[in-house]
Amino acid sequence: MKSFASILLILLSITASTICNAKETEKAEPTFATLEVTPGIYMLSGVGGFVGGNVGLSVGEDGVILIDDAMPPFLDKMKNAIKSVTDKPVSYLINTHVHADHTGNNAAMGADGAVIVAHENLRLHMLDKGVQTKDGMQPAPKSALPVITFSHAMSFHLNGDDAEIFHVKNAHTNGDVVIKFKNANVIHTGDTFFNGMFPYIDINNGGSVDGYIAAQKKILAQINRRTKIIPGHGPLATMDDLRKAVNMLIETKKLISYQIDKGQSEDEVVKANPLKKYHEKWNWAFITTEKMTRQVYKSLTK
Ligand SMILES: [Zn+2]
Repeated sequence: MKSFASILLILLSITASTICNAKETEKAEPTFATLEVTPGIYMLSGVGGFVGGNVGLSVGEDGVILIDDAMPPFLDKMKNAIKSVTDKPVSYLINTHVHADHTGNNAAMGADGAVIVAHENLRLHMLDKGVQTKDGMQPAPKSALPVITFSHAMSFHLNGDDAEIFHVKNAHTNGDVVIKFKNANVIHTGDTFFNGMFPYIDINNGGSVDGYIAAQKKILAQINRRTKIIPGHGPLATMDDLRKAVNMLIETKKLISYQIDKGQSEDEVVKANPLKKYHEKWNWAFITTEKMTRQVYKSLTK
């Protein structure tokens, strides 16, 4: 949990510096852009700074389903973004995984009446470790906890669609779920997919490079060229984008395994920089090439 807390600090400092830069140039604070992915399904994503992971929204005759709920400072902005497309309250909130940039507003949304749905490991994690707040980790309030949990898969039959929610094991965390709207041909991957940047593998919470690759292959097997993919982070994606990500990950695993097999330590592998060819395109502030190398090394030697 310590590493996740430090990651949140980095994310918050990125946010803070973005806000500072924004003030200097008199730009607005971070907020949400609303993209209609297909009729009735939206992606809400941060513009002008980091607000959390990409939020999904299904709106229709049966109500409103929200997928993930960003970070606490952006609750009102997220609600305004939802209000811009529907007057109805959120009936269901699906958490793709436990990280605070995807579950940060659970308590508020749960208190407003949303039924929270998640993988069973997410609820156990919240009960065991609490939730991230501005004052550090605190016991999870009841309204933040999922009230419906599952182990493998479940389906929603709402808004003229059949949405399958399925668990992928030990990928980004130990409680990841992916949501596939079958009729709309839209899929929300949670953080099993960072579009166009190195992914974060939360090894301390059950994530692994092998699970990550398996998850992405499983998603690839269920989509086609017309599928619209809402990734956990990054812009709306296509099958080709996901294929590039899994190819990068498979090659990364191979390159680092090669160094490990030669008997190199983590620092020696970092120095050898086997991922240098990916640096220009995939390196970013949160998961640098060095951090990517270290997390894959740790995952493969654990
Ligand atoms: Zn995450």
